[in-house]
Amino acid sequence: MTDILDPATERVIAQVPGSTGEDTDRAIAAARRAFPAWRDVAPGDRARLLRRFAEAIDAHSEELAQLEVRNAGHTIANARWEAGNARDVLHYYAGAPERLTGRQIPVAGGIDVTFREPLGVVGVIVPWNFPMPIASWGFAPALAAGNTVVLKPAELTPLTAIRIGELALDAGLPEGVFTVVPGKGSVVGARIAGHRDVAKLVFTGSTEVGRQIAAAAAARLIPVTLELGGKSANIVFADADLERAAATAPYGVFDNAGQDCCARSRILVQRSVYDRFLGLLEPAVAGVVVGDPADPKSEMGPLISAAQRESVAAYVPEGAPVAFRGSVPAGPGFWYPPTVLAPVSPGDRTAREEIFGPVVAVIPFEDEADAIAIANDSDYGLSGSIWTENVGRALRVARAVESGNLSVNSHSSVRYWTPFGGYKQSGLGRELGPDALEAFTEVKNVFIAT
Ligand code: NAP
Ligand code: MG
Repeated sequence: MTDILDPATERVIAQVPGSTGEDTDRAIAAARRAFPAWRDVAPGDRARLLRRFAEAIDAHSEELAQLEVRNAGHTIANARWEAGNARDVLHYYAGAPERLTGRQIPVAGGIDVTFREPLGVVGVIVPWNFPMPIASWGFAPALAAGNTVVLKPAELTPLTAIRIGELALDAGLPEGVFTVVPGKGSVVGARIAGHRDVAKLVFTGSTEVGRQIAAAAAARLIPVTLELGGKSANIVFADADLERAAATAPYGVFDNAGQDCCARSRILVQRSVYDRFLGLLEPAVAGVVVGDPADPKSEMGPLISAAQRESVAAYVPEGAPVAFRGSVPAGPGFWYPPTVLAPVSPGDRTAREEIFGPVVAVIPFEDEADAIAIANDSDYGLSGSIWTENVGRALRVARAVESGNLSVNSHSSVRYWTPFGGYKQSGLGRELGPDALEAFTEVKNVFIAT
């Protein structure tokens, strides 16, 4: 049994059995048995079952959100959005079964058609930072395309995944089509990654473990989708609406206490407005409401664990260039204050490594070319923001930054109907949007002689 903690109180809120390798094998075997019948469900029926699954999540969205507040320390506003996102992703891909069309290609002497065939059992391994959305980005398109799914939630945050697994059965998904296996990465995760009956892997988490997953996939030559870390740049040009850029910058990095792969954890500011921008940023950071995640007024909760807080704090040792920071509640809980480091040089560890906590590095730049060079001087390339009132510059910089998800005069990265994923060490492949289904199918070509 694993104790599940509330990170805001450090109290044990549940105990979850740690699944073994044999439990994992059984879940994969059940998924394999369930596959042929699920693949053959008529498209309209599969669509209807997925809509029912979405509606079951919707009917329990407040319960799921409250569960996430307690298990992950997410603010209630975020947790409601997250439950809604899982519902919406299911609804979106519930539109897919009847639209998973192939092509008819002109050939001599017959007819040539292509089919999009499901792969089989898909293993989905997810982290603790956004348990519901990230799981749904894998399981919804996988199920819609006719695959069966084995989902491993993070050891720290299994509660919403377990509940969603029950809701799938309540909604009428056949036994074995969608199975949640809670447990350790080194046990359950590694077993899924190396299992010969798993036909595709979807992994979200650290770049380090992502590499191991890719190696396991390579050993069996199966496809893999990876969503990994980030060190995204929020680039503020002198011609930007500085008030808005400064007012929103804290939310672009401190949302979910900075435990967001899309966190804009480097703020690049043009030197001519550097002092003015920092002057505007200070009250914005002081204004971030850090507190009880169940309180609708809270904008930031605790970190997920004591270990995560230790790892974040190690980036801010005595003598670190702390320009200013926010406040945190006293008492128990894994709290860490929003922290602004400035100025930071692009080579500094805090400008290069993913901190995955509420710490942001501010880096001055000279001109557009310098901004692009600094933004791209990173192993990562997941998201980023560009603040300028010059539309030409916005587009030039958006095209030049090596990153999968950019926003201009905004910090949004995720819409379930647009593609999401990373360049470089931030990942492989894309989730969400119209193309993600392709990652869950093989193209089969059939020629019929006439
Ligand atoms: P992690 O250690 O890579 O874990 C992610 C998942 O993999 C967890 O379920 C984990 O299980 C499992 N796992 C660990 N070792 C494994 C192994 N050897 N074989 C198979 N599975 C294994 O990452 P984390 O610590 O949970 O999350 C933080 C990291 O994830 C950050 O670097 C962050 O940037 C990244 N992340 C990226 C995205 C994205 O969309 N790009 C989203 C969220 C997070 P346990 O829970 O038992 O460790
Ligand atoms: Mg880990």
